[in-house]
Amino acid sequence: MKQRYEGGCHCGKVRYAVSADLDRVIACNCTHCSIKGLLLVFVPRRDFRLLSGEDCLSEYLFNKKAIAHLFCRTCGVEPYAFGKDKMGDPMVAINVRTLDAVDTASLKTAPFDGLHLL
Ligand SMILES: [Zn+2]
Repeated sequence: MKQRYEGGCHCGKVRYAVSADLDRVIACNCTHCSIKGLLLVFVPRRDFRLLSGEDCLSEYLFNKKAIAHLFCRTCGVEPYAFGKDKMGDPMVAINVRTLDAVDTASLKTAPFDGLHLL
Protein backbone atom coordinates (compact mmCIF):
# COMPACT_ATOMS: atom_id res chain seq x y z
CA MET A 1 0.00 0.00 0.00
CA LYS A 2 1.27 3.45 -0.93
CA GLN A 3 2.19 5.70 1.96
CA ARG A 4 3.82 9.09 2.26
CA TYR A 5 7.35 9.10 3.62
CA GLU A 6 10.07 11.63 4.13
CA GLY A 7 13.74 10.89 3.96
CA GLY A 8 17.15 12.34 3.32
CA CYS A 9 20.89 12.01 3.45
CA HIS A 10 22.92 11.50 6.62
CA CYS A 11 23.92 15.13 7.27
CA GLY A 12 20.36 16.35 6.62
CA LYS A 13 21.07 18.82 3.80
CA VAL A 14 19.15 16.73 1.28
CA ARG A 15 15.50 16.08 2.21
CA TYR A 16 12.70 14.64 0.13
CA ALA A 17 9.10 13.45 0.33
CA VAL A 18 7.79 10.43 -1.54
CA SER A 19 4.68 8.33 -1.90
CA ALA A 20 5.84 4.72 -2.07
CA ASP A 21 4.77 1.12 -1.54
CA LEU A 22 7.39 -0.74 0.51
CA ASP A 23 5.88 -4.17 -0.24
CA ARG A 24 8.32 -4.55 -3.14
CA VAL A 25 11.82 -3.60 -2.06
CA ILE A 26 14.54 -4.51 -4.52
CA ALA A 27 17.92 -5.81 -3.37
CA CYS A 28 20.05 -5.62 -6.52
CA ASN A 29 23.42 -7.37 -6.72
CA CYS A 30 25.03 -5.15 -9.36
CA THR A 31 28.46 -3.71 -8.55
CA HIS A 32 27.00 -0.29 -7.67
CA CYS A 33 24.03 -1.36 -5.52
CA SER A 34 26.02 -3.94 -3.60
CA ILE A 35 28.94 -1.64 -2.77
CA LYS A 36 26.51 1.01 -1.47
CA GLY A 37 24.11 -1.48 0.14
CA LEU A 38 21.15 0.06 -1.67
CA LEU A 39 17.61 -1.18 -1.06
CA LEU A 40 15.34 0.34 -3.69
CA VAL A 41 11.73 1.08 -4.49
CA PHE A 42 10.77 2.60 -7.82
CA VAL A 43 8.13 5.32 -7.99
CA PRO A 44 6.84 7.57 -10.78
CA ARG A 45 8.59 10.93 -10.83
CA ARG A 46 5.31 12.70 -9.89
CA ASP A 47 5.27 10.83 -6.55
CA PHE A 48 8.63 12.35 -5.52
CA ARG A 49 9.41 15.85 -4.31
CA LEU A 50 12.79 17.24 -3.31
CA LEU A 51 12.33 19.43 -0.22
CA SER A 52 15.86 20.75 0.20
CA GLY A 53 19.46 20.29 -0.81
CA GLU A 54 19.36 20.46 -4.60
CA ASP A 55 22.61 22.45 -4.63
CA CYS A 56 24.32 19.83 -2.40
CA LEU A 57 23.84 16.95 -4.84
CA SER A 58 26.34 15.45 -7.23
CA GLU A 59 25.53 12.99 -9.97
CA TYR A 60 27.21 9.65 -10.62
CA LEU A 61 26.79 7.81 -13.91
CA PHE A 62 28.22 4.42 -14.88
CA ASN A 63 27.70 1.51 -17.28
CA LYS A 64 24.98 2.62 -19.76
CA LYS A 65 24.65 5.97 -17.95
CA ALA A 66 20.86 5.52 -18.00
CA ILE A 67 20.43 6.21 -14.28
CA ALA A 68 21.52 9.42 -12.57
CA HIS A 69 22.65 8.41 -9.09
CA LEU A 70 22.46 11.46 -6.85
CA PHE A 71 24.52 11.71 -3.70
CA CYS A 72 25.15 14.38 -1.09
CA ARG A 73 28.54 16.08 -1.54
CA THR A 74 28.90 16.56 2.22
CA CYS A 75 28.05 13.13 3.65
CA GLY A 76 28.27 10.92 0.56
CA VAL A 77 24.87 9.28 0.98
CA GLU A 78 22.77 8.46 -2.09
CA PRO A 79 19.10 9.11 -1.22
CA TYR A 80 17.71 8.49 -4.72
CA ALA A 81 18.39 8.16 -8.43
CA PHE A 82 16.56 9.36 -11.54
CA GLY A 83 15.82 7.05 -14.45
CA LYS A 84 13.08 5.96 -16.83
CA ASP A 85 10.83 2.94 -16.90
CA LYS A 86 10.39 0.64 -19.91
CA MET A 87 7.80 3.03 -21.39
CA GLY A 88 10.23 5.94 -21.12
CA ASP A 89 8.36 7.60 -18.27
CA PRO A 90 10.46 9.33 -15.60
CA MET A 91 11.01 7.21 -12.49
CA VAL A 92 12.78 7.69 -9.20
CA ALA A 93 14.67 4.89 -7.46
CA ILE A 94 14.40 5.60 -3.76
CA ASN A 95 17.09 4.25 -1.45
CA VAL A 96 14.78 2.83 1.23
CA ARG A 97 17.60 3.05 3.78
CA THR A 98 17.32 6.85 3.62
CA LEU A 99 13.62 6.96 4.62
CA ASP A 100 12.85 8.25 8.11
CA ALA A 101 11.62 5.75 10.70
CA VAL A 102 11.55 2.69 8.45
CA ASP A 103 12.91 -0.53 9.93
CA THR A 104 14.63 -1.98 6.87
CA ALA A 105 15.30 -5.29 8.65
CA SER A 106 11.55 -5.94 8.78
CA LEU A 107 11.00 -5.39 5.04
CA LYS A 108 10.63 -8.22 2.57
CA THR A 109 13.24 -7.82 -0.13
CA ALA A 110 13.13 -9.21 -3.65
CA PRO A 111 16.51 -10.09 -5.13
CA PHE A 112 17.35 -8.66 -8.56
CA ASP A 113 20.25 -10.06 -10.55
CA GLY A 114 21.47 -6.70 -11.84
CA LEU A 115 25.02 -8.00 -11.94
CA HIS A 116 24.09 -10.14 -14.95
CA LEU A 117 21.02 -8.36 -16.33
CA LEU A 118 22.16 -4.75 -16.48
ZN1 LIG B 1 24.36 14.85 3.37
